[in-house]
Amino acid sequence: MLRRMSTEAPSIALKLKVVLGKIQVASEKRPEALQYATPLLVAVSKTKGLDMVMEAYDAGQRHFGENYVQELDEKGHDIELLDHCEDIKWHFIGRLQRNKVAKLLGVPNLYMIETVDNERLAKAVNDTWGKLNKPGPIKCMAQVNSSGEESKSGCTPDSAVELVRYIKENCPHLDLAGLMTIGSYDHDPKSGINPDFETLVKVREDVCKALSIPTEKLDLSMGMSGDYEQAIEMGSTIVRIGSTIFGSRNTVPSQATLEEAAEQAKGQDKDLDKSTQEEAVKSQTSQLKKLSVD
Ligand SMILES: *Cc1c(COP(=O)(O)O)cnc(C)c1O
Repeated sequence: MLRRMSTEAPSIALKLKVVLGKIQVASEKRPEALQYATPLLVAVSKTKGLDMVMEAYDAGQRHFGENYVQELDEKGHDIELLDHCEDIKWHFIGRLQRNKVAKLLGVPNLYMIETVDNERLAKAVNDTWGKLNKPGPIKCMAQVNSSGEESKSGCTPDSAVELVRYIKENCPHLDLAGLMTIGSYDHDPKSGINPDFETLVKVREDVCKALSIPTEKLDLSMGMSGDYEQAIEMGSTIVRIGSTIFGSRNTVPSQATLEEAAEQAKGQDKDLDKSTQEEAVKSQTSQLKKLSVD
């Protein structure tokens, strides 16, 4: 019998279903002590259009992640999205500079900032949120640089206890939901346990012990398309998955996104001299361009 091959790519709804199924299977492989939470899926929609966000929303997805303030600001304020996705929950997962805090906090349906990695930033978010007179605190996570790679943001594993203590004691407008890490991109999950995930689990132990927080009160945001199943088996409670759901990042970033990336690179290297800074900006921009065409 002749069967016509479908040339259509699997729908976002189908890909979500597959990912949720794999999350379920990985959850059941966890040691019993880690079984208390069903991991939360954050669908990372950076560089993807609102049509895709709405398609995922219609399939039941509610939590979405973005890592540029400018892009989230545009998406979050879109009239059609506001109308169509009343219950959307945005997670900010990118590098955050203090001069962008006010803009970020003005995004409707902002649910969580996963990338608070120093006290000054925590204070800026806290003070700004306080001035907005919202009904409750804003959820945030302390970002830990578990791989030690200079290109990654995050506090050092050793300083996480102090950062969390600072937030708990000095930031009444922040609700510290847990710890987040990106981890090294180079680790092949087939080669064994990802040391970055081990590090984050250990940091949580330290933080919980030092500050008398029950383990289950501190989420772990770790795991992306390539390694989320392993991350869940190791105790991740939030996974951030982009390309597996939406396809590879193939749209050309907007000028505003490129400028923000360049600014981030500058901020990151503010102690370096000017020519080094310019190099950093160039490399960050070309990395971003590369990301967007692969
Ligand atoms: C892009 C991104 C993700 C998703 O990565 P995929 O490999 O596409 O799943 C997760 N976390 C952060 C911080 C990201 O920037």
